[in-house]
Amino acid sequence: MNLTTTIESIQKQLGVSVDGKAGPETWAAIGGKLGVGASPDSTDKVDDRSEKNIATLVPQVQGYARALVHAASSVGIEIKVISGTRTFAEQDALYARGRTIPNTDIVTNARGGHSNHNFGIAFDIGVFENGAYQGQSQKYKAVGALGSQLGLTWGGSWTTFHDEPHFELRPDWAKNMSESQMVAALNDRHQSGKDVFA
Ligand SMILES: [Zn+2]
Repeated sequence: MNLTTTIESIQKQLGVSVDGKAGPETWAAIGGKLGVGASPDSTDKVDDRSEKNIATLVPQVQGYARALVHAASSVGIEIKVISGTRTFAEQDALYARGRTIPNTDIVTNARGGHSNHNFGIAFDIGVFENGAYQGQSQKYKAVGALGSQLGLTWGGSWTTFHDEPHFELRPDWAKNMSESQMVAALNDRHQSGKDVFA
């Protein structure tokens, strides 16, 4: 199924005008459809690869990640959770890429303790088609609409660092913080042993 056919079929399912071009109406309608099948406390298991990464998230976020996979599936989009929590050491190893490791490219600007992936609240998804990973796809925007509807913060809505595969569940206390303020506060909590969502 090519992208146009996919969008048309989503539009058909949603009952919005079918033109194969996804505009705000389609993305919003995709989001609006969500209440139908996915609940953020979902314990309904998804594929093994996703579950392995979901297991690295704090319990409050696990159900959201599953709900996103189910919601995408309900509109004909196959996604997997391909990254979850990274330890500080894993983050430092990523930070070394493009800096101290020869012949590698920079993949992150965050050292250990400075990424939203270090605290169990963030995960990245990949879009798949017939089992093949798609690094670039309009479907990321559709999944972004679904995630936003669920209450997740979507990296594709960020203007400074546009990150379409990225989702995170922001604690209430961080709702009005910038991303860097939140990560700093998460790091403080981590150091003092305080719960992420407390
Ligand atoms: Zn991410």
